[in-house]
Parts: sequence; structure tokens; C-alpha cells
Amino acid sequence: MSKIAFVGLGNMGSPMAKKLVDVGHKVYGYDLVSEAVKKHHDAGGIVAGSPLDAVKQAEVVISMLPSGSHVERLYLGRDGLLSAMCAGQLIIESSTIEPDIARSVASEAGDKGIDFIDAPVSGGSAGASEGTLTFMVGGRNKDLDRARPFLESMGRLIFHAGEVGAGQLAKICNNMLLAVVMVGTSEALKLGIDNGLDPTVLSEIMKQSSGGNWVLERYNPVPGVMVDSPASHGYQGGFTVGLMSKDLGLALTTAAITKTAAPVASLADSLYRLHGQKAGTHLDFSSIYKFLSE
Ligand code: NAD
Repeated sequence: MSKIAFVGLGNMGSPMAKKLVDVGHKVYGYDLVSEAVKKHHDAGGIVAGSPLDAVKQAEVVISMLPSGSHVERLYLGRDGLLSAMCAGQLIIESSTIEPDIARSVASEAGDKGIDFIDAPVSGGSAGASEGTLTFMVGGRNKDLDRARPFLESMGRLIFHAGEVGAGQLAKICNNMLLAVVMVGTSEALKLGIDNGLDPTVLSEIMKQSSGGNWVLERYNPVPGVMVDSPASHGYQGGFTVGLMSKDLGLALTTAAITKTAAPVASLADSLYRLHGQKAGTHLDFSSIYKFLSE
């Protein structure tokens, strides 16, 4: 069994770290929030006093932080982790971040003989708890081969998208589509409800018809249609409006670089930002249904 440092024990990191603990790894967890640390301890993980404390012990370092700036601050600069890490360690960077930040960290890590893959995920906090995440990996074959047993403990599907940064690009494209699908699904459900249809019946009809999609299968935005969805729990937990806005920002920045037209994603970005300003960015992103309903 291996020694793993896990930095960032939030909605995703906490259940991912637990999956690694459950198969017998020693997982040194670190988070800024004390409740997250306590949860890790209660799940059988080892509490590290600082990120440095965690990585000192570890062969593998996994990070699951909110954004690229958090990842830059963790690894780079004079006080960054890379300055204290050793050749032969492996970094699995699973946060959704700018592909260029993944490439910068990989390049500085490579200079020290530290291996790196970017491995953002899809599947949400439910997928993390079930161990059924999809990993989208960027990096060298040999580094992915090394990471594979750890990824397999946390997920079901592992796709190799290309060189370092390619995992992030695939994830950004996926979440751009998810943002749009959530808005479209919410609009269609609202239209049905306003015209007297039962949302559960309508959801089932569309799920089995040409409008069927992942939101209808797993993440219905109307409260009460799915017992376990964030919508049925006051839009708490899950994937926040703030994180979706961040990912749409990544998508639109990427599109601007290649001059790729993304008008529908642009509109979705404005809707999520307006919703975030009005209701706060902490709600699950399916609460866009609520925004469209008001
Ligand atoms: P979260 O906000 O719930 O968790 C992030 C955690 O990182 C928090 O507990 C925070 O305290 C901690 N943190 C921040 N800075 C830190 C630091 N310097 N050192 C240690 N801990 C620090 O976010 P999340 O929902 O777990 O998402 C994490 C990443 O995964 C994001 O990049 C997000 O886009 C991506 N993602 C999330 C989901 C989802 O459904 N929530 C799905 C796929 C991908």
C-alpha cells in the first residue's frame, strides 16, 4: 500500500480521499477548513499539519482545489510545494484549472524529476462517493500507468486525452456542454410545469425521448423529482454556481485564444453570473432552474 498526500478535502476531495483510505492506502490529508480535516480523520485518514507535512511522507500527491490560482499558490513560488518535493514523486492534479497552469506546474516539476499528470474529473460528489468518477488525463503514458491504480480506486473510467493540459481541455469542453444542457433542461421543464405538466412525468418522457440527457438521468433541477438530487435538498452540496462560472470562464478564455465561436456558452455564462450575483455562488448549479423560474 502507498503513502498519499491529499490536499483539498472539499465536496470532491473528501470522498475521493476516503476511497483511497478504504482500499488500505495511508492518506495524509490537508485542508484549510477544520470540519473537512475532522471528516478525513473520522474516515480513517491521517491528518497532516500542513501541505508540506503531507507531501514529506508521500510517494503520490493528489490535489483537489477550487481553481488554478489555488494550484499555482500550492506548488509554485519560493514557498510552493515543488521547492520541498523530491525526484520520483508523482503529482496527480485533479482540480479543474487553466491548461497553462497545469503545463507550468508540470514543467517545473519535470525540472526536478517529479512526475505530473493533470486528471480532472466528472461525475460530481455522488460519483466521488460511489467511486465511479470519470478521469480525463493529460500527461505521459508512463506517468498515467503509474497513477492508474490510484485513479481506479476513485473512478470507473479513465481517458487519456493527450499531453499535459489535455485532460483540462477535455474537462473544460465537457463542463461548457453541461452548463448549457442544464439551462436548456431547466427551461424545458419550466415550460411544461407552467402548462400544467407533472415534472416527474415530463422528465421521464424526455429522458426516454430525443431530449434525453445526463441532467435528466442524474441531476434533475426541479425539487422533488429525484430524492437524492441537490434540488431536493435546497440546492446544497454538489457543484456550486461559483465553480460552474469559473469553468465557463475557462471555456470562454480558451475559445477566445483559438477564436472559436461559443455564443450559447457565452449566454449561459451570463445567466450563471447573474444568478450568482442575485442568490450567491454557494448554491448547486442546478439552481439555475430557480433563477429561470423567478
Ligand atoms: P470545494 O470548494 O468543496 O473544495 C475545495 C477545498 O479546497 C475546500 O475544502 C477548501 O477549504 C480547500 N482549499 C482551498 N485552498 C486550499 C489550500 N491552499 N490548501 C488546502 N486546502 C485548500 O470544491 P469541490 O467541489 O471539491 O471542487 C474541487 C475541484 O473539483 C474544483 O476545481 C471543481 O471545479 C472540480 N470539480 C468539482 C465537481 C463537483 O461536483 N463539486 C465535479 C467535478 C470537478
